Amino acid sequence: MTNLRQLPSVERILSSPQAARWLSSYGRQLTLGAIRMVLDDFRSSRSLPDPGQFQEELVTRVEARLASWTTPSLREVINATGVILHTNLGRSPVSQNADSALHSISTSYSNLEYDLESGRRGERTSHVEAQLVRLTGAEAGLVVNNNAAAVLLTLTALANRRRVVIARSQLVEIGGGFRIPDVMKQSGAKLIEVGTTNRVHLRDYQDAISSQPIHLVMRAHRSNFQILGFTSEPPLADIADVAHQAGIPVVDDLGSGAVLDTADFGLAHEPMVQESLAAGADLVCFSGDKLLGGPQAGIIVGRADLVVKLKKHPLTRAIRADKLCLAAMSATLTHYLVHDAVAAIPVWRMIAARPEELRERVLKWRDRLRVGEILPGQSTVGGGSLPGETLPTHLLAIETAHPDDFLSRLRKSNPPIIARVEKDRVVFDPRTVLPEQETALEAGLRAVLPSTQLTTPQELS
Ligand SMILES: *Cc1c(COP(=O)(O)O)cnc(C)c1O
Repeated sequence: MTNLRQLPSVERILSSPQAARWLSSYGRQLTLGAIRMVLDDFRSSRSLPDPGQFQEELVTRVEARLASWTTPSLREVINATGVILHTNLGRSPVSQNADSALHSISTSYSNLEYDLESGRRGERTSHVEAQLVRLTGAEAGLVVNNNAAAVLLTLTALANRRRVVIARSQLVEIGGGFRIPDVMKQSGAKLIEVGTTNRVHLRDYQDAISSQPIHLVMRAHRSNFQILGFTSEPPLADIADVAHQAGIPVVDDLGSGAVLDTADFGLAHEPMVQESLAAGADLVCFSGDKLLGGPQAGIIVGRADLVVKLKKHPLTRAIRADKLCLAAMSATLTHYLVHDAVAAIPVWRMIAARPEELRERVLKWRDRLRVGEILPGQSTVGGGSLPGETLPTHLLAIETAHPDDFLSRLRKSNPPIIARVEKDRVVFDPRTVLPEQETALEAGLRAVLPSTQLTTPQELS
C-alpha cells in the first residue's frame, strides 16, 4: 500500500506528461482542481492503491473528474420503453423542421421582437399567434413557458381575489406536483367547489352561480386517471351556457390538448382544443410538449379581449416563452396547418405506427443481434394523457438472470438505452425508438450483451 507521505505533490503531478495533456485540453484551473480533489480523496480514504498501481489509478481518477465536469449531464437517450410522452425522458421529441428552426434561430440574430415591415419593435408571440388562430379557430392566442404557467396566469389575471367555480371531480394533481387547488390558491382565486368526487350536475353550477358573485368557471381535464362507475359530468357546452347566461367566462385546462383526433389511431378520444372552443370555452390552456408534439410551452387560445388582458398582466413577462420555444413551436404548428403532422411530428408518427411495421423493426433487430424473442406487447401514450389506453406493439424480449443489472449496463451505453422489464425479461419497444437511433441501439446492445448472463442459451453473432 502506498504510504500517505508518499503521495506526490501537486507540482510533481503537474509536471507529468499526462498533466501536459490535461492542461492543454482543460486549462490550468480545472486540471488543478481535479488533481487536488483526487489527492484529497486519497488522503481521506483508508486504503491507498499499491505503489505499482498508484500512478495509473491517479490518472484514471483525474481524467474521470475532468470528464464529468466538462461533459453535459443532460444527454440524448434512446427511449425503448414504449411510453411515447415519457415525462422523465423529456416528453416529446420535436420534428426535423422544428430542429432546423431551433438551430438557425439559436445561432443567429432573429426578428424576435422586431417588425421587419415597419422597422419598429414587434411582439414576440406574433410569430405563432396567427398560426394558433388558423389552426384552432380561436380569436387570439398566447404562448408562455408551460401549461402550469398558462393556468396560473389565466387564474391570476382573471380571477385574483375573485370566486372561481370548479367541480370537485376536477381538483386533480398532475405529475411534478401540479395541483389544481394549489395553483388556484397561488393565483389568489377563491375556490368554490361544486358537486361530488364522482358526480357533478348542471344544477350544481347553477346553484353556485345564483347564490354568490362568480367571476370564472374553470374546467380541468382529468388527464392522468379515470373515474369509473356511477359518475357524471355535464358537457362543457351546457356548463358554458349556464356560465354565459350569467356573463361569466369559462376556462378549460385541457392538459395535453390534442389538435388531431386520437380516436383515428385506435385510442380513446382525447378532448381536442377545437372542440372545447366550439363548445363555448372562452379560453383553452394546453401543453406544447404533450400531444401537440412540440417544445415545452403553455398555449392559451380563445377570446381576444381575454387574451389581451392576459398579455397586459405583469406575470406574463415572467413566464414568457423564449425564442427557441417560439421557433420550434412555429415549425410544429406549420405541420398541422399543411397536414403533414402525422408523418413529421415524432409523437404522432409513433402513435400512428402500425403493429406490422413495428414487428418488422424488431425482427430486423433480432436477426442482426441474434438474440431474444419477439413478443406481443403494449405501448402507452403517457405524459399524463389517455390513462389506461394502450397501443399494440411487438417487443424484443431478452431473458437474463439479472434484469436490473442488464438495465443498468444499458443505461451506461452512449447514448444511454432505457428499456423496461416485463415478466422477468428485459424488453425493447420499437415504437419509441427513433429510426435514426436504431444503429446506436444495436451498437449499444452489441457492446453490453457479451457480459450479460442470458438465461436461455442464445447464439450471438
Ligand atoms: C400536464 C397538465 C398540466 C401541466 O402542464 P405543463 O405543460 O406540464 O406545465 C396542467 N393541467 C393539466 C390538466 C395537465 O394535464
